[in-house]
Amino acid sequence: MKKIMAANWKMYKTADEARQTAMALTTLVGAVPADREVLIFPPFTALHAVAGALRPALGFSMGAQDVYPADEGAYTGEVSPGMLSDVGCRWVLTGHSERRHVLGENDDFVGRKTTFSLAAGLNVCLCIGEKLEEREAGMLAAVIERQLDKGLKDVPGDIAPESLAIAYEPVWAIGTGKVARPEDIVEAHALVRAKLVALLPSAGERIPILYGGSVKPENAAEIVHLDNVNGVLVGGASLQAESFSRIVLA
Ligand code: PGA
Repeated sequence: MKKIMAANWKMYKTADEARQTAMALTTLVGAVPADREVLIFPPFTALHAVAGALRPALGFSMGAQDVYPADEGAYTGEVSPGMLSDVGCRWVLTGHSERRHVLGENDDFVGRKTTFSLAAGLNVCLCIGEKLEEREAGMLAAVIERQLDKGLKDVPGDIAPESLAIAYEPVWAIGTGKVARPEDIVEAHALVRAKLVALLPSAGERIPILYGGSVKPENAAEIVHLDNVNGVLVGGASLQAESFSRIVLA
């Protein structure tokens, strides 16, 4: 399975800054190794600029950080899967913890976004992960299972495994500088893998599972080689081309 190295730029960068970072990244990375794939998730307002900067670069794809589950309509402020494809997105994130916990999105809404986007032809990276108090209460497995049950509820059993990825991002490790220990990552990813196989028997073994939460150039190589880790989703350390290029090549 190819390793997916993904950059989530969150609410950072103007269109021009995003284009410059994308161009610097393609220069620093050069030819993406054949066993890797690089995904960039800029803010909506920079998608067009980044699409232009990435177009000639093999091995790079772009995605959006969010989507609304309808083709069009009276949904002020929202963006449809078709609009994202139109500006060059191949991927979309659903269920990022900041959308769940800052913007109040629930599991069912995340599931609707996931199913609708897949049906519309986008690849989806569904983000899941437990809060610190859930981990301390021994609810790790229950939270992972619930978020996958609801997030993938209406996903067809014959889904192509390369059209879906799961990002396991413990909420307590996002943007905090606290990386989960290797044994915590291996434990959580094994739970995710088992649940994927139970829910989607024909694809579950081949759906990539990314780790996210304070990934940096210094820890990326160790993390991407752990069992059931098929890539990383990087926030803070993806904002500079220099540090993200080191992660891509880790
Ligand atoms: P971080 O963010 O790398 O800054 O911890 C990861 C994410 O939110 O996807």
